[in-house]
Formats: sequence, C-alpha cells, structure tokens
Amino acid sequence: MSLSYEKLYIGGQWVSPHGHDVIPVVSASTEEVLGSVPLGVEADVDDAVAAARRAFQDPSGWSSWEPARRAEVMERLADAIDARKDEMVRRISSQNGMPISIAEQLEGAFPSILLRYYANLLRESPAEEKRPGLLGGTTLVRRRPMGVVGAIVPWNFPQALAFFKIAPAMAAGCTVVVKPSPETVLDTFLLAEAVEEAGVPAGVLNFVPGGREVGAYLVSHPGVDKVAFTGSTAAGRAIGEACGKLLRPVTLELGGKSAVIVLDDADLSTSVEQLFATSFINNGQTCYLGSRILAPRAKYDEVVDVFTGLAGAVVVGDPLDHGTQIGPMVSARHRERVESYIAKGRAEGARITVGGGRPEQLDRGWYVQPTVFADVDNNFTIAQEEIFGPVLSVIPYDDVDDAVRIANDSDYGLGGSVWTSDPDRAVEVAKRVDTGTIGINAYLPDPTAPFGGVKSSGLGRELGPEGLTAYQHLQSVYLTG
Ligand code: NAD
Repeated sequence: MSLSYEKLYIGGQWVSPHGHDVIPVVSASTEEVLGSVPLGVEADVDDAVAAARRAFQDPSGWSSWEPARRAEVMERLADAIDARKDEMVRRISSQNGMPISIAEQLEGAFPSILLRYYANLLRESPAEEKRPGLLGGTTLVRRRPMGVVGAIVPWNFPQALAFFKIAPAMAAGCTVVVKPSPETVLDTFLLAEAVEEAGVPAGVLNFVPGGREVGAYLVSHPGVDKVAFTGSTAAGRAIGEACGKLLRPVTLELGGKSAVIVLDDADLSTSVEQLFATSFINNGQTCYLGSRILAPRAKYDEVVDVFTGLAGAVVVGDPLDHGTQIGPMVSARHRERVESYIAKGRAEGARITVGGGRPEQLDRGWYVQPTVFADVDNNFTIAQEEIFGPVLSVIPYDDVDDAVRIANDSDYGLGGSVWTSDPDRAVEVAKRVDTGTIGINAYLPDPTAPFGGVKSSGLGRELGPEGLTAYQHLQSVYLTG
C-alpha cells in the first residue's frame, strides 16, 4: 500500500503546500517506494512560523493557559499517539530499517511517556517563586516560555527524538515548527493526524518536511526564538554558527564515538543482551552507541571473541519481522558511507574478525553485515570518526588509567559504559570519563535524567527537568518593601 499525502499540517489545518515537488519515501529493506509527502519550501516555513507565532502571542492562548490545562492537552495527545502505535512503528521500521521489536520499545513508547512525564512535571513545577533578597527586598523569579521553537529531527529515531523537543516545549508553553528528515516523514503525518484528533490548539504544533535547505531556513527565520537540533556534528556546527550570529538559544544533540570500557573483572558472558543494546541497537545507527570496545590487554582475545560471537549470532533481516535484531542501513548512500569506513579499517591494518561485507541471503535492501575489527589503535579513522553502522573496534589498554585516557581521546563525549562485577569501582571509573552520559553494565537513557554531550557531541541537555528549562527564559521581578 502506498501512502500519499498532498497537504501539510500547519496552523491546525491541512493546507496545500506552496511548492509542487514531493519527497518520495523508500523502504530501507525492500527499496520500494512506500509513499510520498509534499516537499516543504520557504513559503511553507513562513506560514508555519507565522501560525506558531500567532498561537504563542494569543493573549488568552496556549502560553497563557494554566499548567493543568496544557497538561491535559498533552495527555490527550499521548492517548491519540498510543492509539496509533502499531501503525507508527510499522511506518518507522519500513522507512529506516529499525527492527520492529526495537521500534516498539523506543519509538512506540517514548512519545507518550515523554508527554505524560512533562505534563506531570508541569503540574508540579511552579512557574514562579518568591526569593528573599539580601538587600531588603524580595524577588519574584518567573519562568517564561521562550516562544516559537524550530525543532529539527534526524531519521534514526524520528518520533522519540522529536518528542525530546516537543514534550518539554509544550510543557513550557512554547509553540513548535517541526522539520523532520526526508527519510522519515510518513510517521510525521501520522503524528499530525494525532495532533488534530487530540485537539491541540491551532498553531501549537506545525510540520514542514524538507531537507537541509528547509532546515537552514527555519533555523535563521526571524520568527523563531529557539532552535532544538538533533543530527550530525557537521550540521550542528552550521546551525550553532547561525544561532550564534543571531544570539538565538540553541540545543545541539550531535554525534558520538562512545567507549565501552571492559574492566578486568567483568563477566561478559551473562551480559549478551545488554552488550547488544549498548553497541548495536538500531543497526548501529544510534548516536550514543559504544562503538569503541576497550579491552584489558591480558583479556584482549577473550573480549574480541565475545563481540565476534555476538556480531556473528545476531539475526539480520527484515525489520518488520519480530525476530530480527539488525535491519538495513537507512539509505543506499548511508550504506556506502559505512562500507567506506570498513574499507578504511582494512587499509589501516585492522583485522576483521566477523562480517565486513553484505549478507549473502539478502539481495534487496541496504544491509551491511555486523562487523568487528580487532587490532585497532585508537588513532585509526575507524576509532575516531562516527561510522553510524554495525561496526565495532576493539582496542587494547594496559591499565585503568590507560583505559580512561583512550576513552577521553576522542572529539566526542556523548555516551559510554563501564563493565565490571564491582559497581563501586565502575562508578569511580565512569566519573573520570569526559562524557555527558554513561552507563554501568548497560546503557539505558532515562526520561528523568538530562541527556546530551560534551565536546563535539553537542551543547545543552534534553530530558529531565533540565530539558524543560531549556525552553524557558528567567525573569527576575524585584519587589520592593
Ligand atoms: P544530519 O545532520 O544530516 O540531519 C539531521 C537533520 O538536520 C535532518 O532533518 C536534516 O534535514 C537537517 N539538516 C541537515 N543539515 C542542516 C543544516 N545545515 N541546517 C538545518 N538543518 C539541517 O544527520 P542525520 O544523518 O539525519 O542523522 C545522523 C546523525 O545524527 C549522526 O551523526 C548521529 O550521531 C546524530 N544523532 C545524535 C543524537 C543525539 O542525541 N546526540 C541522536 C540521534 C542522532
């Protein structure tokens, strides 16, 4: 069945697009066209920003509502999304190749979890507080919504990452223009149907699909007050530069090259599921994945064997099949990029222990075999650059200081994990790793905790109460007497 949309959801209505071009959406596993949506153009962004601004500035509208009233709308939206969960995860898996069992756990669940979490936080967090001063007066400290948000989302977790932005922005009282990735837009239109059904007020959420040009136009649009971006470090730098010139607040969630630090007392044999989630989930197309495995020199071969066994045993296949653990890359272009890194690894002298090619039995779809490189030096390109595919590098270390040094010898600092049978020791090692997030014997980001990176992995944090304050300005009203 081909899904074809002809209108855009802007200002609470389905409107005709200004342009005539469409975005064809192609299945990562069958290479067949799944459907198409209108390609947004600048005039569509203008309309969406104007609608979001009207909704934001309406004196009796969204941003002025009592918290409980906004929270109720957010919960209605969560219900409307939940009612579409099966269709949503099917669309996502077909588009980007994410195994459906993972799509159910993450893409299917996160949007409504985040809407409900921020709705509760909104009810509990006072928008203003009175603070006794030191000079005789009192100050009323107020949290005000920043205004119109431009939210730019990648294709790898299109719904979850959209809601890292939409849920706290709505809770803050902001209005949003979402620009999804061209690879994953069919899920956006299902979301727009949920937004309409839930009675989210007109202009609070607007969607303009398009590529980099449409994104860049939105970022610099004079009607936008805050930009929230998830994507590559290269695009993040361009967006950060544009926002810097405009002095526009921006949150950047960018790439990663995280380290899995295996300590000498780790028992990896009992952790296979967690190791998979930490290093391969979503076909290796996950920003926080541990793609550098740091192994103690004395146990190097053993660790290489564990990861070789893991990569060799995973089920690669149709993302819509519940038994599949690894699906295809999102696009032919992206598979070429991953393969070029595999070639670079070979050329640099790393040793492939498993994978390295395309799965023989799959002649359609952009598949790559899960691949492990041994004998990797941390200076190799495959250890320094983000590959964004199912490709791991196992790097030896001498002692814990050396492991921490190697983990920190990276432009990135987004995720990471420490594996050991001694949790206290793990936390001590974790504290020395220069990264925004890190897990112990697993890696599972939680909605209540700030998520984001340091160095080239980004600026600012999403999730948790901190994710809400990223959409608020503070105003101090000095009260005399
Ligand atoms: P990408 O940067 O190419 O695109 C991301 C989004 O930004 C897309 O919607 C794209 O159209 C848009 N875009 C690209 N250039 C732009 C520009 N100059 N101005 C405005 N918009 C622009 O990234 P991608 O290939 O879609 O996603 C993969 C990347 O995302 C990886 O590097 C990955 O690590 C990163 N990522 C980071 C996180 C995180 O939370 N840190 C999460 C997921 C993915």
